[in-house]
Amino acid sequence: MTHFDVKAMDKTADPCKNFYQYACGSWMKANPIPPDQAHWGRFDELAERNRETLHQILEEAAKPNPNRDADTQKIGDYYAACMDEKALDAKGLAPLQPELDRLKNLKDKGELAAEIAHLHRIGIGSLFDFGSGQDFKDSSLVVAQLDQSGLGLPDRDYYLKDDPKSVEIRQKYVTHLQRMFELAGDKPEEAKAHAATVMKIETDLAKGSLDRVSRRDPEKIYHPMKKAEMSTLAPNFQWAQYFTGTRAPGFDAIVVSWPDFFKTVNTMIQSTSLDDWKTYIKWHILHSEVPVLPTTFLKENFDFYGKTLSGIEEMRPRWKRCVDYTDQQLGEALGKKYVEKTFGAEGKERMLKMVHALENAMGQDIEKLPWMTPTTKKEAMVKLRAITNKIGYPEKWRDYSSVVIKRDDPMGNGFRSDEFEFQRQVDKIGKPVDRLEWGMTPPTVNAYYDPQMNNINFPAGILQPPFFDKTMDDAVNFGGIGMVIGHELTHGFDDEGRQFDPKGNLKDWWTDKDAKEFEQRAACVADEYSSFEVAKGAHINGKLTLGENTADNGGARIALMALLNTIGMTGKQIDGMTPEQRFFVSFGQIWCSNEREEALRLQVQTDPHSPPEFRVNGVVQNMPEFQKAFSCKVGQPMVKNSACRVW
Ligand SMILES: [Zn+2]
Repeated sequence: MTHFDVKAMDKTADPCKNFYQYACGSWMKANPIPPDQAHWGRFDELAERNRETLHQILEEAAKPNPNRDADTQKIGDYYAACMDEKALDAKGLAPLQPELDRLKNLKDKGELAAEIAHLHRIGIGSLFDFGSGQDFKDSSLVVAQLDQSGLGLPDRDYYLKDDPKSVEIRQKYVTHLQRMFELAGDKPEEAKAHAATVMKIETDLAKGSLDRVSRRDPEKIYHPMKKAEMSTLAPNFQWAQYFTGTRAPGFDAIVVSWPDFFKTVNTMIQSTSLDDWKTYIKWHILHSEVPVLPTTFLKENFDFYGKTLSGIEEMRPRWKRCVDYTDQQLGEALGKKYVEKTFGAEGKERMLKMVHALENAMGQDIEKLPWMTPTTKKEAMVKLRAITNKIGYPEKWRDYSSVVIKRDDPMGNGFRSDEFEFQRQVDKIGKPVDRLEWGMTPPTVNAYYDPQMNNINFPAGILQPPFFDKTMDDAVNFGGIGMVIGHELTHGFDDEGRQFDPKGNLKDWWTDKDAKEFEQRAACVADEYSSFEVAKGAHINGKLTLGENTADNGGARIALMALLNTIGMTGKQIDGMTPEQRFFVSFGQIWCSNEREEALRLQVQTDPHSPPEFRVNGVVQNMPEFQKAFSCKVGQPMVKNSACRVW
C-alpha cells in the first residue's frame, strides 16, 4: 500500500482505546521490518521508492557514454566508483595510506592544529566542528562557528550513563575500536591499548560537552567573541594555524557554541601525548572512510553501528548505500535529475493552495487563543505573515563544475566532494545570507522550518502519496501533507522557534505574562510525553522532544481547521467515514510503522522526534475534536484527563 487505505486499519480495535492500532493495525501486521532496516514505516516505504527512482537514474548515468553532460558524468562515475566492491577490496588500505602517513609523521603537538584543519577540509571529523551559519542576533549576517564534536558514539550520554544497557554498549564499542585497529594492521595487544586510548579521550570530550536538551536553548549555545580570543580560551591549541589551514576567508568575529568544551580541549591537549592524539585521529580517519574501505571494515562497522546500536539484521545492499552517498555528496546534481523525472508544476500549485489554507488556519488559531494577550497576539501575527515557503526544489541549482569525479577513485571522490562543500560553507563567512539555499536535497522524505530564515521548506520527495495524493479527497490530504505543513508552521512558535522574531533574530517579542502562560502549557506537553515508555526502562525525553511534540499537536489542530474551512462542516461520508474521521485516520496512517527495540532506545536518546505510535496517540489524547469525531468517552485512554494545549 502506498496510498491512504481503509484496509490498513484494524477495525476490530477501539479507536478510543488505541487509535494508532485502529488506524494502522492491519498495515503493521502485513509489513514486518525488512532485515536491512532499523524500522519500517510509511516514511521508509516512500524513501525506499524514491531510492529506486534514484537507482534507475544512477544506473543510467553510470553508462560510460561520451555524450553525458557534466552533472551526469559526475553522479554516474561517483556511483560507479562506489559500486565497484571488487576494486575496493583489491586496493585495501592503499588509498588511505597518504593520510595515515601524514598523521604518523607529525613531529609535535603544535602540528595538530594544521592536521585537523586539513582533515576537516576533506570531511574527516575529529575534536570539534568548524563552519558557518547565520548569526542568532543578526540573521542577515553569516558568521564563523565553532561547535563541540569528536565522539564516535551517538551522544555524550552514551559515555556517561551507568545503566546496564549503556555499560554494555560501551563495552561493545571498545571491542569495535579494537577490531578496527586490528583490521588496520595493529597486533591484538596494541589494538587493545589503542581502543582504550580512544575511549579515554572521547569520554573526556563527552564530559566537556553540553547535553542535547540544553543545546535546544539558543541562548546557551550562543557565545560570540573575537577570533583572537580563542587563543585565550584555549591557548594550547594553535588556532592561527588551524584557521589558516581551513582556508577560510579572513574574519574577526566567531560564535562559539559552548566555550567550556574548548576549555576541556585545552586541558586535554596538555595532558594527552602526541601518540595518543594520533591514535584518536587515526580512529576517526578509519571510521569516516569505512564506506570506501574493503568489505572486512564494512562488516565490522555494521556489526556495531547497525546491529548493536539499531538492531538491524543485515547490511543494506551496496546499491542502496551508494545511492545515499551520492545524495549526500552531490545532492543537487542528483536531485535535479530526480525533479525532472518526478515533479510537475501541477503539484506545486496545489501544494501552495494548501500552504495558504494552513497559514489562514494558524492565523485564526492565534486570534482565538484563550491564554494570549492582544499585544503578543499582534506580534505573533506579524511573525506568521512573514513566514515564506519553498516548495519542491531550489530555484538555483548548486554548481559542481569544480568537483573532479573519477570513476576509479571512490575515496578521492569523497574527499573532493567534501572539500568542495567545506569551502562552500566557509566562503559564506562575512557574506549576506542566501535565502534561496536549501538545507535538504529534493528527494528527501521530510520537511523543515528554519527559525533564522523564518521559512518552511518541502522537498519534492515528500510531496507524494501517502502524504500528498491528487487522487484523494481533501480530508486525506489535510490529514497527510496538511498536517506536515501545520507542523512546520507551528515550529515557528514552539519553545525554540518562539524565541526568534519575524526577521529570524533571537529577540524576545513576548510579554512576561504570555511567556509564563506559554511555559506552563509547554510543561504539560513535556510531562505528558515523558510518561510514555517505548521499551523496558526507556522513556521518551519530554524536554528533548518538546518542540516536535508541540508542532505535532498544533499541526494537527490547524490542519483540521484548514480542512473544515475548505470543505465546510457538512462534508460527505466516504468509505463509511465522516471527513473528520478520514482526516484523523489519514494522519494516523502517515505514521504506521514497525520498530526494533534497539532503534527505539537509540531514538529516545538522540532524536528530538517521538516514536511514531506516540506521535499519533500523544496528539489525539489532547484533542476534543478527535474525541467528538469518534464519540470517545471520559475515562477512555484516548481522552486525557487534563488535555495539554499550547497552540
Ligand atoms: Zn518538526
